[in-house]
Amino acid sequence: MSKVNRDEILSILDGYSREDITVATLGSHTSLHILNGAKQEGFRTAVVCEKGREVPYQRFRVADEFIIVDKFSDIVNEDVQDRLRSMNSIIVPHGSFVAYAGLDHIENDFYVPMFGNRDILRWESERDLERKLMKEAGIRIPLKYTDPAEIDRPVMVKFPGARGGRGYFVASSTEEFNDKIDSMIERGWITEDDVDDAHIEEYVSGTNFCIHYFYSIMNDEVELMGMDSRFESNTDGLVRIPARDQLEIKLDPSYVITGNHPVAMRESLLPQAFDMGDRMVEAASKIVPPGMNGPFCLQTMCTDNLEIVTFEMSARTDGGTNTFMHGSTYSYLLHGEGMSMGRRVAREIKVASETDRLAEIIT
Ligand code: ADP
Repeated sequence: MSKVNRDEILSILDGYSREDITVATLGSHTSLHILNGAKQEGFRTAVVCEKGREVPYQRFRVADEFIIVDKFSDIVNEDVQDRLRSMNSIIVPHGSFVAYAGLDHIENDFYVPMFGNRDILRWESERDLERKLMKEAGIRIPLKYTDPAEIDRPVMVKFPGARGGRGYFVASSTEEFNDKIDSMIERGWITEDDVDDAHIEEYVSGTNFCIHYFYSIMNDEVELMGMDSRFESNTDGLVRIPARDQLEIKLDPSYVITGNHPVAMRESLLPQAFDMGDRMVEAASKIVPPGMNGPFCLQTMCTDNLEIVTFEMSARTDGGTNTFMHGSTYSYLLHGEGMSMGRRVAREIKVASETDRLAEIIT
């Protein structure tokens, strides 16, 4: 199957009435502020929503148009794409959109103009590509071990497709790694074949900051929009139990994200945060053109040496942006009150549309 053709996307965009653009997204993840922000910037909004999930969009009055589908993955169906194009829609991607539409569809047959770089979505989804991009940027990432025999410090062991970090474990020696793997095989969590796919990386002990950036092509500037930290179940619950009891109850830790809370970083760390964002944008523009266009997020741990280590990145609106639907501590400094990530995206679309530069921010 051939990739979505840029000329075709541009010709669809050419056929749009510039005064009548709809900002559309899938009804999940971060769609509330994407839609709300678009309305604030004067756009009509549309939500593609699974039957039975429409209540928040009705009750919060963020959507003008509802495209109700049997299941979220139907967003890629021809009739849904037709409706979106007929409304002059620009799709704003987010984590659930990527998960439900699927990377293959997004890359090959989703012919609706999309805000940002559709090609970079695979880079955040596949661990090796993600590491390649972060390495190119020269930001500090956890050390990776290719051989369990080399484990010389605490490591975190991750398995591909482990949703919510179920089955992730921490080990501090080769023996402990082998014991834990054996016990997981015994309990049927993984098979012998999975062991080779285990991703082993340095365990970074620190505090969690998920840093939200917006790279504006219109202004050629990386903006620091906000920061959150995550509520993760059951690990947050587990650490509230004294160590002695943790051993007794034999609960296995998981990292299922259940919510986010806004945070502010120690001010002296901000130069590092800006530098990391700038580097990511530079690296992405070199290896995944047209680069990091719009929202992205670096999920980090800050150590007691005040070093920020990035263990994961997202190259679209991140879930943690839900902590600043009304603006964040940082977005306030640059934009004043009320600038959510969704509104920032809509502002970029508005400026691009007014200056006839939409083609630069759409793929
Ligand atoms: P996601 O679930 O967002 O894909 P990961 O699977 O990479 O993120 O990690 C899940 C959680 O595990 C993180 O939010 C963090 O709490 C913890 N974690 C991941 N990698 C590391 C690491 N190298 N060191 C310490 N903690 C980590």
